[in-house]
Order: sequence, then C-alpha cells, then structure tokens
Amino acid sequence: MFGHNPKLPAENSDGSVLKITSIFATFQGEGPYVGQSCVFIRLSGCNLACSFCDTDFDDYIEMPVDAIVEKIRLAWCSFTSRLSSMPPLVVVTGGEPLRQNIDKLCRILIEQGVIIQIETNGTIWRPIPPQVQVVCSPKVIVGKYYQIRDDILQQTIAIKFLVSTYQSGYEDISDVGQEQYRIPVYIQPMDHYDHAKNTANMELAMRLAAKYNARISVQLHKIIGIE
Ligand code: SF4
Repeated sequence: MFGHNPKLPAENSDGSVLKITSIFATFQGEGPYVGQSCVFIRLSGCNLACSFCDTDFDDYIEMPVDAIVEKIRLAWCSFTSRLSSMPPLVVVTGGEPLRQNIDKLCRILIEQGVIIQIETNGTIWRPIPPQVQVVCSPKVIVGKYYQIRDDILQQTIAIKFLVSTYQSGYEDISDVGQEQYRIPVYIQPMDHYDHAKNTANMELAMRLAAKYNARISVQLHKIIGIE
C-alpha cells in the first residue's frame, strides 16, 4: 500500500489453496461492470509497489478453493437476502491476482454460471479459462507504460488508465496494445485524497477522454460510500 509493500513474484502452485486478503459483496465501482452487484475476491500480494496504491493487500489467510467458493456464496446470500445462489459477477483482484494460480477457482465458478472479471496490472500472465474477462490497468515503469503482452490483450475487454497531473508518467496515456485489438479504453482520475488535486485530475481525465475517444471511469464505490 502506498508503495510500501514488498514486490512479490508469481507463485507456482496447483491453485488448490490461495492467499486471500478479503472476500466481500458490494457493487463494482469501476470499469465496464460499474454499478453491477458482485462479490470481490482480493488476493494477497503484488509484484509492483506503486506509490499511489491505496489498496491494502498484505494480510492474508490461506484458503482452499472449496472454502473460497463457499465464502463467495455466503457473502452473496447475506448481501441479497437470498437463501442460496451464486453472484452474477465475481471480481478477482488484488494486489495482482495473476501472481497466484487462479485457474482452478475460475473453472469452478464458471461451471456455476458466474461471470468472472479479473483486474490485473498486465505484467504477469498465466493460463486462465477463455471465459474470464480481463480488465487491465497498465502502470508506468521506468518512465513509460509498458506494452501489454499479446496473450493478455486477446482476453482483455477493457484497458483502464489511471491519470494524474501530480504523478510522473501519468499525465497522458499511450497505445499499450489497445488499438490493434480495438479494446475500449477507460480513463480514471487518480485519487490523491485531496479535493484540489482530485479536481485537477478529473479535468485531465475529461480532456484525455475527449482526445482519445475514451470513457471516463469514476470510483463509484467511493462516491456512494461502500467498500
Ligand atoms: S499494481 Fe495495482 S495493486 Fe499493485 S501496487 Fe500498483 S496499484 Fe497497487
């Protein structure tokens, strides 16, 4: 969080146990599924340490996949007051969710009719079911956005750029592969927890969205006061 986390590499495992920071039902606040009720799974650890990162993902418990699926069901049932069902959408995020082997978890959820969206920084790739929808938020490394790998681009439904007038390298966006695959671009103002800075970032986001024919993404969950 805020760049203080250790940079952790991708882990090799069979994916039957995952390091989970939290599982909770909410509304998706960002990107193409904004406003959709869902369950979030936050996986622990990231291979990057961005100074503006406002997500806490260091703590975790190790959970077998079956227990994760049951916790998703329970979180959803208490959110919707239904006795038994699975959520329409599960958002797998982190940290960096592709650091761990989520293939088995994804397959179980897909068998139960769940749409899966993962939110990745796009620097790690491992095989996941083709039904999984990837939202990639590229980060600036050594002064510029890195080009996203071709295998990630082929499964990516949206690219979300964070922009800021106060963060070096985030004042504009670039083509990281979205043009070749005609991937919709979302531009999201970075949150500096400062009204004046956030206002400037929103103005920047609107300018860039107009310039690149992209869509504005706001963090709905912060506006309506949910996790
Ligand atoms: S890639 Fe995302 S989760 Fe990882 S440190 Fe950067 S902002 Fe945080």
